[in-house]
Amino acid sequence: MIDTHTHLYLPDYGDDKCAVVDRALSCGVSMMVLPGVDADSIGSIKELHELRPDATAMCAGLHPTEIKPENWREHFEKIEAELRSSRDSYVAVGEMGLDLYWEQYKLMLQMEAAEAQLDLADELNLPAVIHCREAMPQMLDLMRARKGRLPNLVFHCYSGSADDVSRLRTLEPDVKFGIGGVVTFKKSSLPEILPLIGVDHILLETDAPWLAPVPMRGKQNESAYIPYIATKVAQELRMTVEEIDLRTSEAARKFFRL
Ligand SMILES: [Zn+2]
Repeated sequence: MIDTHTHLYLPDYGDDKCAVVDRALSCGVSMMVLPGVDADSIGSIKELHELRPDATAMCAGLHPTEIKPENWREHFEKIEAELRSSRDSYVAVGEMGLDLYWEQYKLMLQMEAAEAQLDLADELNLPAVIHCREAMPQMLDLMRARKGRLPNLVFHCYSGSADDVSRLRTLEPDVKFGIGGVVTFKKSSLPEILPLIGVDHILLETDAPWLAPVPMRGKQNESAYIPYIATKVAQELRMTVEEIDLRTSEAARKFFRL
């Protein structure tokens, strides 16, 4: 299985950097994609990747909630320089996007940063990992304005509606949807839209250390919990876990060129 979105490089996992990766490996997770959130994450992501190069893949990007008016350009320039100089070491630009849940007041800056990162992904021919929370209309506007200049996209931790799936597809027919622990939550509406998304457009993810799936909900999440998510997706799509693993891993390998 592949965890397509996991922040295992964060200090939350303690001094033994490899322990959390090795636990996932022993649970059948063969690859973990590490998204960046700002310029400072570049170093910690590289450090973990150098320790487990065959089990991890690197991304670099500026998360919308990390955007500060005084220094976001500085962060972006560092990320850009890193991606340009080491393009082949990276599998995606991100995470990036819009977040009006935590940061209602910075929409213009978030838009500017998202545009700059989408330009870069497009130019470097890398896919983009999108974080979009409470901002789907704004994200759709942004995509509409960029039609024809969009890199391949995954909406990580997808939280939109069924209608949004259709709206996104009219703009980017092959868009992927990151499905994580939320799908296992009792009140989640995600299970109903899984058939619409379809197994070949689902990328499994934990978004660790956040959003641990049931039965680990409330605990610190980690990539070893991907099987709980795969099992829930399998139940909803009436497929075997093996088939979910096969098809979503194939989709992830193709998307990130792993
Ligand atoms: Zn994330």
